[in-house]
Amino acid sequence: MSARPPGHSTAEWDAIIVGAGPAGSALARRLRPRYRVLLLDRPQARAAGAARIGESLPGAARVLLQRLGIYDRFLAQGHAERGASVSQWDQDTPTWFDPVRDPHGLGWHLDRVRFDADLRAAAVAAGAALVDQVRHLKVSAMGGRWRVDLACLGQAGAAPSVRTYEAPVLVDATGRSMTAARQLGLVRHGQDRLICLYAHLPPDERDEDQATRICADTNGWWYSARVPSGKRVLAFHLDGDDAELKSLRDPARLLAKSHRHPLFAGIRPATMDFPVRAQPAGGGGLDPDALAALPEGFFAIGDAMLAFDPIASQGLFNALATAESAAHAIERYIDGVDDARVRYLEEMRAVAARYHQHLGETYAAVTRYSQERFWRRRTSWRAGAGEIASPI
Ligand SMILES: Cc1cc2nc3c(=O)[nH]c(=O)nc-3n(C[C@H](O)[C@H](O)[C@H](O)COP(=O)(O)OP(=O)(O)OC[C@H]3O[C@@H](n4cnc5c(N)ncnc54)[C@H](O)[C@@H]3O)c2cc1C
Repeated sequence: MSARPPGHSTAEWDAIIVGAGPAGSALARRLRPRYRVLLLDRPQARAAGAARIGESLPGAARVLLQRLGIYDRFLAQGHAERGASVSQWDQDTPTWFDPVRDPHGLGWHLDRVRFDADLRAAAVAAGAALVDQVRHLKVSAMGGRWRVDLACLGQAGAAPSVRTYEAPVLVDATGRSMTAARQLGLVRHGQDRLICLYAHLPPDERDEDQATRICADTNGWWYSARVPSGKRVLAFHLDGDDAELKSLRDPARLLAKSHRHPLFAGIRPATMDFPVRAQPAGGGGLDPDALAALPEGFFAIGDAMLAFDPIASQGLFNALATAESAAHAIERYIDGVDDARVRYLEEMRAVAARYHQHLGETYAAVTRYSQERFWRRRTSWRAGAGEIASPI
C-alpha cells in the first residue's frame, strides 16, 4: 500500500497514531469516521512471500474483529482454524486441550503478514490517512497539543521530505520499540531478555497436523504450529545470554535439539534450506504512573503499553483490546471528560496484574527443571511488580 502524503494542514488532525501494526490500525479504524486520524509507519521491508512470527489468535478475538466491522473480510483471508493443543510442560505425558472446550470458540493460525496488511487496509478504507514512508520522527508536546516532526523517504532517490503534524491526541502504537514513549523519557519495565529463535520450515506434504505443540526444555521452551501456507513454525525461546544461542542459529542443530522431545520428533521439513531468525521476545510494559505524569492526550496501546511473553499467546488480542479501550478513552478525552486517561490506565494496571499472575503460574508449573537457570529466573517474579528479581 503506497503512502498517501496527506494534503491536510497541521491543524486538521484529531489523533496521530505512530505505528500501523495491529494495534495502531485497529485504533485508527475504530476512531473513524468521527475523528480525523493520521497513521504513521516506517516502510515495510518484508520481501514477497516473507513470513512473520506471531500467528496464534485466540477465539476471544472474534468479538473485537466484529466490533471493528472486519470479521467477514477476516474470515475470507484464508487463515486456518486452530486445532487442539498438546503440551509436555511439567511431565513427559502429553496433555491435550481440545479447543471445542474453549467458551470463546475456535481460534486461528494466521497468515500473519496478510492479517497485519488487511487491518492496515481496513483503517485506510475507513478514512484514516496513512504515511508509511517515515524514516525518522520526533514527538513533543506544545501548548496542549502534540507535535510530530517527520522525515519521510523521498520519491526515487529524491531527498527526504520533512513534515510537521499536530493533534490534541498522540498514540504510541510502535510495538516493543515504544518509540514515542521513549522520546518522552519513559522506559520499559519488567522486561527480560527472552529470545525467540524461529524458522518457517519448508512444507512437508505428509504433515497434516493442525495441533499447536508446546514443550518445556532445560534451558527454554519449544513451540510449533502449521501456518496457512503449509509451512511449519518451529520456535525455541531461551535467554539472551544462553551459551547455546549462537549454535542454535544453525538449522540442523535447532531441528536436532527439538527432536529430543517426542512431541517434536516427527517434524521433518521438506528441505534444510531455511534460515533461523532471532527476535527479542521478553515481556514488559510502560509504568502507568509514569505515563500519567505526561501531558494529557498521550496514550500507548498494544505492545507499546504492555508486551506479553509469547507463552501467553495474548499479544494480538491485547493489541485489539487496548485499541478498543483507548478509542473509548480518546472519545471521552476529546469530549472534555477529565478522567478519561486515568480510567484507561486503571484498566491497563488490571490487565498487567492479571497477566503477571498468570505468567508467574505458567513458568512455576515447570517443577521438573526448577533448578535450571532459565526456570529459576522466571519463578522469581517480584510480587506485584512483575519484574524479574535478578534481571538477566
Ligand atoms: C516471538 C514472538 C511470538 C509471538 N507469538 C504470538 C502469538 O502466537 N499470538 C499472539 O497473539 N501474539 C504473539 N506475539 C505478540 C504479537 O506479535 C504482538 O503482541 C503484536 O504484534 C502487537 O501488535 P502492535 O501493533 O502493538 O505492535 P507491532 O505489531 O510490533 O507493530 C508496531 C508497528 O509500529 C511500527 N513502528 C515501530 N517503530 C516505528 C517508528 N519509529 N516510526 C514509525 N512506525 C514505527 C512498526 O513498523 C509496526 O508496523 C508474539 C511475539 C513474539 C516476539
